[in-house]
Amino acid sequence: MTSFSTTFLGCKVSQTDAQEIRDRLLGDGHVERAGAADVAVVNTCCVTHEAVRKSRQAVSRAARTHRRVYVTGCAANLAADAFAGFSKDVVVVRRPSEQTPAFVAGDVGAIGCVRADARLDRVRAFVKIQDGCSFSCNFCVIPLVRGATRSRRAEAVLAEVRRRVGQGHREVVLTGINLGCFRDRVAGYTLAGLVREVARVPGLARLRLSSIEVNHLTDDLLSAMRETPSVAPHLHVPLQSGDDRVLEAMGRRYSVATYLARVRRAEGFNITTDAIVGFPAEDEGAFERTLTTVADAGITKVHVFPYSPRPGTRTAAADSVPPAVKKERSARLRAASHQACLERWRAKIGRDDMVLIDRPGRGYGADYSPWLVQGEVGQLVRVRARAVVEEGIVAA
Ligand code: SF4
Repeated sequence: MTSFSTTFLGCKVSQTDAQEIRDRLLGDGHVERAGAADVAVVNTCCVTHEAVRKSRQAVSRAARTHRRVYVTGCAANLAADAFAGFSKDVVVVRRPSEQTPAFVAGDVGAIGCVRADARLDRVRAFVKIQDGCSFSCNFCVIPLVRGATRSRRAEAVLAEVRRRVGQGHREVVLTGINLGCFRDRVAGYTLAGLVREVARVPGLARLRLSSIEVNHLTDDLLSAMRETPSVAPHLHVPLQSGDDRVLEAMGRRYSVATYLARVRRAEGFNITTDAIVGFPAEDEGAFERTLTTVADAGITKVHVFPYSPRPGTRTAAADSVPPAVKKERSARLRAASHQACLERWRAKIGRDDMVLIDRPGRGYGADYSPWLVQGEVGQLVRVRARAVVEEGIVAA
């Protein structure tokens, strides 16, 4: 019997990839162990230079406490040499995500099916419906390491959702690299159709989308999300920049006006976003327009990424904005984002919400607002907002 541990860095798709390797190893009869074990799987990220550095650190840590380490995921596919210098027991797995679980399991060696249906060690179940991306934005390394877009069959997604609900997961998050590209042409499903079907799974308390490109924010998707109360009224819609000239230089497929028009149709949804600060084409005026667009769109949370040129991308050689300027602008955007969060939270005082408790004393509301709440981890509880603190909304 082989003991193993899994860690991941990066996005929700990286998390589901690590989850799939874990499921496969458990299904093959191996035992999961936190901390030291025979085998470690580190699912890596390469979206920024910093992410590769942290991935290398995670591999280094694992190599000190495990006999064998499998380096999987995006950074393994992008920069295998980033993991050079480790012993031969550190195996860099350069494979598409779909093939990685079988490779790792085959290398570890199956000893017979024991726990094929182990519950995830997290309250929320992330279910991957799509992988890869065919948009190829000029700064983005993801299409290079994950390939072109491809979708799972709707029936496979539904089967996994039923399984996760059967395991006791109250919330399911549909995730992918470019979710809106999901298509099951054989069964005739678009993302909107899949949302309608998944939301009908008996016992599913809450369905959430991980993120959606503004190009895919259609009326049909919005009505599918509004039709069923179990669908969370939250949309993460990457903006990246609030300046048309910068959006064009990024190779994004929308203008600021289109972005604003689309998110304004998502009335009643909490809108959060991603923004890149310090992209080469960004001057002070362009950055100011990003601040304005975030306010005009009613965005309540911005994940801020200081621009980091990625190898193999069209903008790999461009990095003209000084680090100090990136740092200063990132701080201003994060401050504006936090103010917007506080305003949204304060507007909830005296009102009720259904909160999923995902850690001791903490949880998230339907619109993904953070709450400080007492109760059993994994439970959905109805609470009333009593006060607001820096970390979130305090339940009465
Ligand atoms: S849409 Fe653009 S930023 Fe997003 S994964 Fe695809 S290429 Fe990257």
